[in-house]
Amino acid sequence: MNKFIFVSGGVCSSLGKGVAASSIGALLESRGLNVRMVKCDPYINVDAGTMSPYQHGEVYVTDDGAETDLDLGNYARFTKGRLSLANSITTGQVYESVIRKEREGKYLGKCVQVIPHITDEIKDRILAVSNEENDNDVVIIEIGGTVGDIESIPFLEAARQLIHECGKKNAISVHLTLIPEVAGGELKTKPTQHSVKSMQEMGIQPDILICRSPVMMDEPTCRKIAQFTNVDLDAVFTSPTIDTTIYQIPIVFFDQKLDQVILRKMGVESRHADMRPWNSVMDHFKARQGKVRIGVVGKYMNIHDTYASLYEALFHASLECGVEAEIVKIDSSDFEKTDDADSILKDIDGVLVPGGFGERGINGMVKAAQWARINKKPYLGICLGMQIMIIEWARNVLNWADADSTEFSPASKHPVVSLLEEQANIKNYGGTMRLGASETVNEDGSHILAAYGKKVILERHRHRFEFSNQYRDDMINSGLRLAAFNSDKTLVECVEWPHEDHPWGVAVQFHPEYKSKPMAVSPLFRDFIAAAKKCK
Ligand code: GLN
Repeated sequence: MNKFIFVSGGVCSSLGKGVAASSIGALLESRGLNVRMVKCDPYINVDAGTMSPYQHGEVYVTDDGAETDLDLGNYARFTKGRLSLANSITTGQVYESVIRKEREGKYLGKCVQVIPHITDEIKDRILAVSNEENDNDVVIIEIGGTVGDIESIPFLEAARQLIHECGKKNAISVHLTLIPEVAGGELKTKPTQHSVKSMQEMGIQPDILICRSPVMMDEPTCRKIAQFTNVDLDAVFTSPTIDTTIYQIPIVFFDQKLDQVILRKMGVESRHADMRPWNSVMDHFKARQGKVRIGVVGKYMNIHDTYASLYEALFHASLECGVEAEIVKIDSSDFEKTDDADSILKDIDGVLVPGGFGERGINGMVKAAQWARINKKPYLGICLGMQIMIIEWARNVLNWADADSTEFSPASKHPVVSLLEEQANIKNYGGTMRLGASETVNEDGSHILAAYGKKVILERHRHRFEFSNQYRDDMINSGLRLAAFNSDKTLVECVEWPHEDHPWGVAVQFHPEYKSKPMAVSPLFRDFIAAAKKCK
């Protein structure tokens, strides 16, 4: 029988529930168990695809093209289990399918209610993940939001029912809370006591507490928490504030024997944990020498979460290349206005233009790409960043001053980036995008082929606009390299600046950052950082 671990949060949001859930997954995998991760998001959007980056951070895309919560990115970086649409459950999806079934008459005239119909739908979806593959051992379900939120109630109720139905040995509750420190350095347990009371009111007795605290909690503090919450003393853990990297969290939990307590509570026997891969990540982290400064030129620079996978991929590359990658965030709208690009970019060793939508700040990105091309600085363009590289080339090398993407300038005489014809008539958002994994074939002699070391690669897409094929000859004849295509060569997947003029300028239509992991860095990010290090 499959085991279930429900991870909930209390006191406040942003405590790192996703990283905690992922770290538990990593620890169980290190003992040879097969783990699947599920995120329950209480918002009513059907998926994260239509949400503003300001509201919700990055949209993480899976191989099957689901536009999901950024926590799935954490799961992907910490664990090995397959992630797809099924691993992201939102209130919007649940209601959409219950209402559809009601319209189809599937409820046989019953009054359709939150309990049992909505909760059953949630449970069915969780069980579907656990039954998807027959070698699953554990499903970890992270419940978004904070206990006490109105919108999380159906998810917590579904968790309560599953814990009751499966029995305590097969389903446990892990609750993450905050232990604040007040003046004088005293750690306060009261918010945690209240948070556990809220869980108990929902009918769930947490089995394990993970307390975010500025420092490791001492024994008397843990004892007090245990006493007031009915949680075993050895099941109260600290997630201390660390100044290294989130990839140390599995080790921090391992040192406190969190995995042993979880396995004991679920009655699971497993082999000893093999923590060598995580220890090796930390060894690489400590061994880095020197620094490269990477200018990320984008639209949402004041919110870290918007480019979560991208920043992580740069970090993974820095581990692999043995050099720290300092991220210099450059707001493209501000950069657009400056007359002195040189002074802003003067210490930058590489320029990265990430994905994005909409017109604002585009000329700032074009200016940054031009600077990197002329100053022979490594450039990595991702999705919009590839379209920017094409626009910059058309404007400044082909001297088509009005060259643009039809996304920003529908009337341009030189629409070097445009909508695929078959998409042009679709109006409904969510459904018009090229989403998910598809094959890219790399051309001989290209940087991208050198990076991946193989002709055919599988990477994920999330975009509407494409390189306009009518300009292929103009681009090639002026020196731009079309370095990779989709399998039938109808779409350009990668462009590169001429190798004889520039050390490393590569831009791709897909998003390599989604598949980068600390132990399996994206080849393009690795070669980008390596080029920045070499050119420094
Ligand atoms: N806005 C561009 C498009 O839709 C790029 C999208 C992206 O960068 N993800 O094609």
